Amino acid sequence: MFEIFETFLFDGDGVLYKEDSPLPGAIEFLQLLAKRGKQIFILTNNSTKTREEFQEKLKNLGITLPIDHILTSAYLTAKYIEKESPNSSVYVIGEQGLKQELTSVGLNIVNNWEEENDEDIFNLGFDEIEYVVTGMDRSFNYTKIARATHILVNYEKVKFIATNGDFTFPTVQGLIPGGGAMIAILEALSDRKVAGIIGKPAPLMYEKAVEIAKSKKEVSIMFGDRIETDIYGANDAGITSCLVLSGVTTMNDLGKLVNEEGPDIIINNLADAIEDFN
Ligand SMILES: [Mg+2]
Repeated sequence: MFEIFETFLFDGDGVLYKEDSPLPGAIEFLQLLAKRGKQIFILTNNSTKTREEFQEKLKNLGITLPIDHILTSAYLTAKYIEKESPNSSVYVIGEQGLKQELTSVGLNIVNNWEEENDEDIFNLGFDEIEYVVTGMDRSFNYTKIARATHILVNYEKVKFIATNGDFTFPTVQGLIPGGGAMIAILEALSDRKVAGIIGKPAPLMYEKAVEIAKSKKEVSIMFGDRIETDIYGANDAGITSCLVLSGVTTMNDLGKLVNEEGPDIIINNLADAIEDFN
């Protein structure tokens, strides 16, 4: 059933790899698609790396992709803000990958250093800030919480944008807090709702991939391991969704869904997809 598609969109973690190890069938399936002239894209909500770092990571796994076929929530957030308000000043909660993507489109990061916990919280020029941007931040600390909350509470004009809303991030040892955890804390403290979440399930990333491929949604398919992002996003965007059970979602989770919410296709891993293709 997969041969009919022209554009293949893949989530990274839990579909192609888990940390630095490829998942069963992933590399072979991508090689097969490349050989058949299919277009391949990676759509990842992971905002901690730049696209170049993802390209390198994929290369080390044995997957070669052009840079514009790698779409990350950090990159799209940078492009979104650049379009909406070029050269604006941004307070960032996030890791180096996000900061580099924002800087590379000409945005001014007001806290472009590792903020220590004991810094004077109000020792920052707040007036010029136009955005608070959050992504997963493994150095999230009291100073960052206090500053971001201060900005959101005291500067109504400041827009609150997030790269992605995933509450958790899968590692080999287990789940750790993801970008959604940072949003939840700031929403609770500031009594403001995040104005926009750029990553999946929002349609932006899917639409961008189809646009770059010069393809159509009807002949595009998304492979993902997370229902609430990968699958819901594909369903909303009008793209065929394929749940891959090699990541966070289990068959048990699926029992809780009503039919139209679920994926169009379910496979155990990408080795299954190869079998179907032949
Ligand atoms: Mg995933």
